[in-house]
Amino acid sequence: MVAETLEGAMKQNTMFDIHKIRKDFPILSRTVNGKPLVYLDNGATAQKPQSVIDVLTHYYTHQNSNIHRGVHTLSREITIAYEEARKTIQLHINAKQPGEIIFTKGTTESINLVAHCFGNLAVSEGDEIIITQMEHHSNIVPWQQLCKEKKAILKYIPINEAGELVLDELPKLLSSKTKLVAFTHISNTLGTINPVKEMIATIRSLSKAAILIDGAQAVPHLKPNVQDLACDFYVFSGHKLFGPTGVGVLYAKEEWLAKFGPYQTGGGTIKTVTLEKTEFADGPLKFEAGTPHIEGGIGLAAAIDYVNAIGFDVIQKHEEALMTYAAEKLSAIDNIRIYGSSKHKTSVIAFNVIGIHPFDVGTLLDKYGIAVRSGHHCTQPLCQFYNIPGTIRASFAFYNTMEEIDLFIEALKKSIKLLS
Ligand code: PMP
Repeated sequence: MVAETLEGAMKQNTMFDIHKIRKDFPILSRTVNGKPLVYLDNGATAQKPQSVIDVLTHYYTHQNSNIHRGVHTLSREITIAYEEARKTIQLHINAKQPGEIIFTKGTTESINLVAHCFGNLAVSEGDEIIITQMEHHSNIVPWQQLCKEKKAILKYIPINEAGELVLDELPKLLSSKTKLVAFTHISNTLGTINPVKEMIATIRSLSKAAILIDGAQAVPHLKPNVQDLACDFYVFSGHKLFGPTGVGVLYAKEEWLAKFGPYQTGGGTIKTVTLEKTEFADGPLKFEAGTPHIEGGIGLAAAIDYVNAIGFDVIQKHEEALMTYAAEKLSAIDNIRIYGSSKHKTSVIAFNVIGIHPFDVGTLLDKYGIAVRSGHHCTQPLCQFYNIPGTIRASFAFYNTMEEIDLFIEALKKSIKLLS
């Protein structure tokens, strides 16, 4: 049934030839411990297609130079390419203008930037910030620190056993003191897809709070539309979107950027500097101190072009089929507990084998060439809710196959036998 669905999805779009797609990712043909690599750790970082690798090689072979301040050919060429990359990202997430796209190191830095700049602008003693119990540490710690610094109060939307947000609580948490609400689009540990539009409607109807969405786990699976969402900030990392490591994005509504003071300062952020004072640049450059990750920016744009050429509709169909198949196979094994049973869930299965530590299972799976993640996945409060030290997490991308899931299930059964 599932295979039929997948085949159907593949037939509908001739672009989606899984074997051809896999050839685009050189790493997928390597072996690990003498076995074909089965890479199911896409939630941690995704593999890169040849087109992205080629952009990086081409940059260092033919284009390497610094951007924005050079008059020579190389510098002018790469400045254009970097600013084109900003535009590709703008169009991909449907921001109003390229100036609303700030290049950062990744999701974590994007959130820190907002916590710093928004915190300085708008948060005072007694104000409130709301996040959720399912957040990644990167969307918890910066807000905890800000609240500590400003003597503000941090509140949490709780989760239920199914790993969904208890949204009945949201109106009760909101007040005139709420300055910002930050939440993940998709949970990195459970795969739960949060009803972000509905949440934004509730927040807007009951408060004047700004809204930040952590899109780190969403962007490999869907195309966010920030104008349609009408969020204030949307953040993600390049490396989870099949692009380079060390580059990420902060989308921020222009009106915020105009009001924000600088984050880090130095070269690139300024209009004029005298020995007495500095006048800062307008737009995104004010927030991009120092020489940026130039090849990262153009590599990320290449990754976006790559996924758009496949199309998110077929990507989603394939990933849905993978998830259904994996969940069925996994549930059929004795003593498995799966965490997160939301109907709205994608590409992540977190589970434990009752009585066996997740690290032991993960280590044995590696012997069979299976790469999964074991641990708390930077969501310790979520693990505290389930009262567990962590989980084994298998996370899928569009290049994974049913055969890989079979290999994973086989290896898991053997590992459990050895560990029992
Ligand atoms: N938020 C979520 C939901 C994540 O999954 C991750 C990465 N695991 C992050 C934030 C942090 O991303 P990065 O390490 O790329 O900054």
